[in-house]
Amino acid sequence: MRRGQPRHEAGICSAYRRPIIAFMTTGMVSALRCAACGSPSARIELVAPGGLPAEWGRWSHEERNSFRQYRDPDQWWLLFQGIAAGNGGGGAITDEEAARIAEAFSMPWTYDRVHTAGLYDDAGFCATCGVPYCYRHWRVTRPGYGYCPEGHGKSLDPHWSPEDFGP
Ligand SMILES: [Zn+2]
Ligand SMILES: [Zn+2]
Repeated sequence: MRRGQPRHEAGICSAYRRPIIAFMTTGMVSALRCAACGSPSARIELVAPGGLPAEWGRWSHEERNSFRQYRDPDQWWLLFQGIAAGNGGGGAITDEEAARIAEAFSMPWTYDRVHTAGLYDDAGFCATCGVPYCYRHWRVTRPGYGYCPEGHGKSLDPHWSPEDFGP
């Protein structure tokens, strides 16, 4: 079993309280909310090398064991909950990918910046409205495809994988 350094443990407390944490220190949590109803939509978390997820205390025994098994403590770890699906217990990403995602989700959030993260559903952002919506407001009419409240269509294809992070 590996544990993070005390400085990472301290960082998790602040990451838990604040929506965004300065990059390259303790990681980052971006919890987006639907522009139509305010309920949680997508959630993106970057876990710094050696660190633990912000909500570690709420992870199940199985989730923790899986994380410990697959986690490379030298690498950044991405946890992504999208609109229709996410990357489950997460996956390792490179420093470059972590930097790109952190930049994409630095405030203020705009579609153009969020889009540069390369997430399959752009974290639920509508390209035309420029705001995020939740699953309910992305009226999903067929698997992996929905319409925003303004009627703009979007693919919410859940077949996400780290390989999608092309340059
Ligand atoms: Zn909503
Ligand atoms: Zn729209």
